[in-house]
Amino acid sequence: MSRLRPTPATSPLNNALTFDIEDWHQLVEWKLNGTMPPCSRHVLAQTYDILETLAARGVRATFFILGLVAEAYPGLVRDIAAAGHEVGSHGWSHQLIYRQTRQAFADETRRSKVLLEDVLGRRVAGYRAAEFSVTEGSRWALDVLAETGFSYDSSIVPIHSRRYGIPGTPLGPHIMRTSAGPLTEVPLTAVQRGRWHWPVGGGGSFRLLPYTVTRAAIREVNVERRPAIVYFHPYEFSAAPLVPRLSSPGRYVTGARYVLFHNMNRRTNRRRFVRLLADFHFAPIADLLNHGH
Ligand SMILES: [Zn+2]
Repeated sequence: MSRLRPTPATSPLNNALTFDIEDWHQLVEWKLNGTMPPCSRHVLAQTYDILETLAARGVRATFFILGLVAEAYPGLVRDIAAAGHEVGSHGWSHQLIYRQTRQAFADETRRSKVLLEDVLGRRVAGYRAAEFSVTEGSRWALDVLAETGFSYDSSIVPIHSRRYGIPGTPLGPHIMRTSAGPLTEVPLTAVQRGRWHWPVGGGGSFRLLPYTVTRAAIREVNVERRPAIVYFHPYEFSAAPLVPRLSSPGRYVTGARYVLFHNMNRRTNRRRFVRLLADFHFAPIADLLNHGH
């Protein structure tokens, strides 16, 4: 494993802005009802809204798109790329890698890459796992990604957690050896607090912590000349409350905690996001890797 060239202290530091493009309604209803519904149109409205917000500020990002969404809405994939953003793969079905066989993971990962490349007519270099499910027990996924022709992965959270993370992973982008050759890892951002590393700059932590806490953490990371890798989902910017269609009212009991958590601070999230865009420089991951900052 080797570190990538450190950023010269004089150049401006870009952080990476990333989105995992998936349809909240489809995935939540699948989880709660047990059957996969078609991809809903909610994801379209939410993602076009993000595209407008970024275009108004001249910010480019990386969009890791789920195969289920790309298959339903290839026009969305093309529009994202046409707006100057990088397109990466978020896999096909959003299953946790450590619950899949290597063969099932390889098959659906290849399927997602081929679809995106067919739609775009260009190579897709980056991958982000569903729920960051590249863990110690599923490190083999990195071999599969290199075999499939990805040049980088951005799925490892360098912290200890029950559901994800590989503690001890270098905090900045680095090159890993796999059985199929080198693969660059672009880990999600964490800061050290005492003996522990804590994730910052995305998902629940961005929504639930005061914005000033996130801002201070990203500044701290940038002072160490590391780019922050922040991540968001389309549903986090939804103008309407997130309410799944459930097959029976009883499912609300199972789903309530989930639904409450994802709606929490949803309405104020856009304001925080706009502040974030104003406070830091962002670029797609591919730009960071190509230019060394
Ligand atoms: Zn996801």
